[in-house]
Amino acid sequence: MRRTIVLAGLAATIAAVPAGAQDLAAFRPADSYPELGQVLPTARAAWPGSPCAGREEIAITDTLPPGASEGSLGAAATFGGRCLVVLKPVLLQPGWGYELCVAVTHEFGHLAGFRHSDDPADLMYPLLDDVRYEPCRPATKPPDPPVPPGIVSITPD
Ligand SMILES: [Zn+2]
Repeated sequence: MRRTIVLAGLAATIAAVPAGAQDLAAFRPADSYPELGQVLPTARAAWPGSPCAGREEIAITDTLPPGASEGSLGAAATFGGRCLVVLKPVLLQPGWGYELCVAVTHEFGHLAGFRHSDDPADLMYPLLDDVRYEPCRPATKPPDPPVPPGIVSITPD
């Protein structure tokens, strides 16, 4: 089944809707989420000029701010000098490492000031299934299994 998932940009929405401030206590520094692993450095590397680099705060919740389009899995906004990203918990389910990385990178793009693109090849295209971002593949690849000690390669006689 095709997952058509919108990655909302709410640069205007949270700022414009005071109710969006209701969950500000839910945001934690991005680096306090060990489950994000290599996603954060990968996402930051995509936007080297971002004024939010290293200052991102993330809330993982099914409650998106008002104005997020239906089906959105993430949202981002700057609010009161803070750099806020909302991620839906489904993004952290097993097997979704690549999708998580693309979503976080996309939302960090909003924090860097970018709006949505009409180009499916662009990170700022709003439909997750259509976005391809190769740096997210190694960032989310499971580690190789350890090589058992003492095993040597077999060579033909
Ligand atoms: Zn977006």
